[in-house]
Amino acid sequence: MSRSAYRGRFAPSPTGRLHMGSLLAAVASYLDARAHQGFWHIRIEDIDPPREQAGASTAILEALAVHQLHADAEPTFQSQRLARYASLCERLKAADLVYACPCSRKQLAHNASHRNDCGYHSGQQTWQEPIAWRLRQGQPQRHFCDGIQGSTTLQRDPPLDDCILFRKEGLPSYTLAVVADDHEEGITHVVRGADLIDPTFDQLALYEALGWEPPVFCHVPVINNDQGQKMSKQNLAKPLDNGLAADNLRTVLQLLGITLPPPLKRSGNPSNILEFAIGAWSRQPLAGKLGVRLPTETCQGS
Ligand code: GLU
Repeated sequence: MSRSAYRGRFAPSPTGRLHMGSLLAAVASYLDARAHQGFWHIRIEDIDPPREQAGASTAILEALAVHQLHADAEPTFQSQRLARYASLCERLKAADLVYACPCSRKQLAHNASHRNDCGYHSGQQTWQEPIAWRLRQGQPQRHFCDGIQGSTTLQRDPPLDDCILFRKEGLPSYTLAVVADDHEEGITHVVRGADLIDPTFDQLALYEALGWEPPVFCHVPVINNDQGQKMSKQNLAKPLDNGLAADNLRTVLQLLGITLPPPLKRSGNPSNILEFAIGAWSRQPLAGKLGVRLPTETCQGS
């Protein structure tokens, strides 16, 4: 089958091993790419060393391989592109689209006028590196058409909510790195968890500042626990058991609205299961769903 112009990706942060929630996002982006005869890429977003867990990148790549989620190129690592992110920040500085800001979010939230009073933003105080750089966002509202959730409007309260692009630790923020890479890797479709709908605001603002066309964003439901919290490494979701790869795929496919035929419900390996799922994939059953719950017999963490 010939390739289309579609380019998708899965972009995990190596802050822990994959769990059922991250598998769901990986499978959705894989199926959407394959169902469109597209290219699928894996990017390890390793730009936050204090939050990373030793060995997590290798474990994530191994789990994806065991679940037969094979990419079309070698994985890329954001930690190898730090100079590129710094140069983009320089470009934005030269265009006066970012400003240096020593204030914490807490200070800004505590007192909306802090930004004017602190003297840094008005030029009354001069700063010394290291300092954070924030994007001048301007508009308080952004609208986009999500490929799954439909028409979506997001609000911000600038300058209070102006996102950080370069952290005072000298590291790029998630916003800067993800936009730079999605653009430069030619990603046309970003299929990821609904917890990332809100950060899409900052990403759209940055695409606009850089004069780049944003990809199509498609947000799939996240797996919630009994308390309605997203299953995550922070709330101790159980890592995937690679020995149960076929069962793990059956679980996430059910949550993605795909009904396997009886033989694949009982047997079949990850490749057979994924092959069927590519043919059965549709974004439609997920429309308007921001969260799903695991079937009770599959208790994968809280
Ligand atoms: N690296 C992010 C995470 O693991 C996801 C980034 C994205 O898909 O845009 O939550």
